[in-house]
Amino acid sequence: MHPHDAGVAAVLTVDLDAVVANWRRLQALAPAATCAAVVKADAYGLGASHVAPALADAGCRTFFVALPDEALALRPLLPADAAIYALGGLCGAEKAFVAHNIRPVLNHLGEIARWAEIAAATGRRLTAAVHIDTGMNRLGLGPDEAAILADAPQRLTGIAVAHWISHLACSEDADNPMNPRQRADFVAATARLPQAARSLANSSGIFRGPDYHFDLLRPGAALYGVNPTPGRDNPMAPVVRLDARVLQVRDVDSPMTVGYGAAHRVGGPGRIATIAAGYADGYLRSVGGRGVVRINGVAAPVVGRVSMDLITVDVSGLPAGAVQPGDRAQIIGPDNSVDAVAEQAQTIGYEILTSLGARYRRVYRSPAGGSGNRQ
Ligand SMILES: *Cc1c(COP(=O)(O)O)cnc(C)c1O
Repeated sequence: MHPHDAGVAAVLTVDLDAVVANWRRLQALAPAATCAAVVKADAYGLGASHVAPALADAGCRTFFVALPDEALALRPLLPADAAIYALGGLCGAEKAFVAHNIRPVLNHLGEIARWAEIAAATGRRLTAAVHIDTGMNRLGLGPDEAAILADAPQRLTGIAVAHWISHLACSEDADNPMNPRQRADFVAATARLPQAARSLANSSGIFRGPDYHFDLLRPGAALYGVNPTPGRDNPMAPVVRLDARVLQVRDVDSPMTVGYGAAHRVGGPGRIATIAAGYADGYLRSVGGRGVVRINGVAAPVVGRVSMDLITVDVSGLPAGAVQPGDRAQIIGPDNSVDAVAEQAQTIGYEILTSLGARYRRVYRSPAGGSGNRQ
């Protein structure tokens, strides 16, 4: 570890330059559309207060979060002309939305009525996006509600609909018939509604081709380096690097066991390194016995169970003395992508990122080329 890392167990490096490069790359795939940025859940765990301003500096002017509090936290950090949408709808925060220039995504007729009522009360036309559900059955106006709205567009009086949006259920699956079906339903539903810009594509949706781009792209995961084209080479630049400190190295031999539950049985003479990251840091327990870290460029399998603050890795493959306390183990990085760790954990990159722990020292590489620390 570097001398200035005294007392630091693990360092999470977020490359904001790469986030911006990824955003530009997605924008370049759809020149006729506008590329927004989904920064919900603290920009997928990477730090929305760093990520969103970096994207705004690069020219991004449309941001999506999930919840009112996320939107309100972002507002002072972004230019006044940047639109911030809350995907989860009003959540009772309509007055704060009006006061702080936050735009709701209205998900059902009740929310449309409420936003129209606020517009009437304030005497202002209030902007919003409206979510048309085309198959997620999660958020948005279903076919019945969309039909009611189409027959009674006066329900939108006082509301400036900036976007009709919908969300794909199977966008990462290129051949899934859900994709063209949802697209067709979106086109049909919006054809009956007042004219407004349309938005359908999340990260993987962008890769389904120009038919899916419409007017506004809504990528999240791809901005953060998660592969939007599973099974094919990742077109995105890696964003996250996670290095954790080696705390101890010990010689072991059979019939010893390692860790809780004596879950790992040592097969013969070897060495175990203990690393300072565990499930409390979002290094999921499901990685136990499956994961791999890299130490000095060599793969070291995670053996035994993941503890709260620690993992144990088999470093028998490295020469004796090659691993020392204070060395760094690369948990996520060039040789061990977020998607690879997700596979080891039997989950998706999204969950690996949003689980990244609060105890990591976070270092941000900024587009200006400098770097800054938080915590
Ligand atoms: C989270 C979310 C996105 C972004 O999805 P990614 O797969 O991360 O690109 C886009 N739209 C909606 C409605 C979402 O909930």
